[in-house]
Amino acid sequence: MKLTRRQILKGGLAAAGAAAAGRAGARERRQPPPEAVGMLYDATRCIGCRACVTKCREENKLPFERSADGLYDQPVDLSGSTKNVIRLASDGTRTSFLKAQCMHCVDPACTSVCMIGALRKNPVTGIVEYDENGCVGCRYCEVACAFNVPKFTWEKAVPRIVKCELCRHRADPGKSGPLAVANPACAEVCPRAAVVYGTRAGLLAEARRRIAEEPGRYESRIYGEEDGGGTQVLYLTARGFSFQQLGLPDLGRNAVPAVSESVQHGIYYGMAAPVVLFAAALVAVHRRGGTDDQE
Ligand code: SF4
Ligand code: SF4
Ligand code: SF4
Repeated sequence: MKLTRRQILKGGLAAAGAAAAGRAGARERRQPPPEAVGMLYDATRCIGCRACVTKCREENKLPFERSADGLYDQPVDLSGSTKNVIRLASDGTRTSFLKAQCMHCVDPACTSVCMIGALRKNPVTGIVEYDENGCVGCRYCEVACAFNVPKFTWEKAVPRIVKCELCRHRADPGKSGPLAVANPACAEVCPRAAVVYGTRAGLLAEARRRIAEEPGRYESRIYGEEDGGGTQVLYLTARGFSFQQLGLPDLGRNAVPAVSESVQHGIYYGMAAPVVLFAAALVAVHRRGGTDDQE
């Protein structure tokens, strides 16, 4: 099996994390801002109509990704022109839809690796924002993100990163309180309330309410409440259809930067440095061999 550059880097990081374990002090677990906003996606309600995909494209002025016959807008995954996509998942017998976009992580790996702060977590809203004027195009964020969200516009003369920013450009001054900071177009058009916008605290309460009202319908936990250090986009899935079957990664409770920064701090202890350097060397060899993956 041919390894992709992303797999090599992530494998190297995991190995280095293991090597540094016990040496590096545990990093403090970060909390979302008190007024953090986000979205709740309920996979049991989604009918795959993709109204959210079309509206996202329109609101973000992104070009169509046409089907082979040229008639339909048919993105298959996140890309330099698609910030929001609906995927089809299967557990072998049943199917479910999954809405994919930036998760607005509580402790984002993308901001942790962005050396000049072009990606930044807003301290009030928790939205992970992108400043294309500061971006140098290193693409570290692409490699670091456990959800494979940031995408690079290779085809542009001046490439940039593309990812959901929770439609912060649609801030609604008519609203008051924390919800005035954004107005996600995807949530606005969803005919099934499968995707709803709110404060993270409010969305957690709404998710718990749905689970309590129909315990036979849902898995009893909320993805993103703790996963990967917590996210501001939260997920519900059907009972018996796991989040991993849905396509969400099993990250445990710890944020990715908590691991990588512990590695950095412990890197000159023990054998972590050689492991990281070996991973870097593998990447270099991989690139020289002309097998660098461009997603
Ligand atoms: S999902 Fe990826 S791009 Fe979005 S905030 Fe988390 S690490 Fe950053
Ligand atoms: S919040 Fe806006 S940018 Fe993000 S997925 Fe929804 S419509 Fe697209
Ligand atoms: S608009 Fe709502 S129901 Fe339609 S695909 Fe998007 S999330 Fe699912």
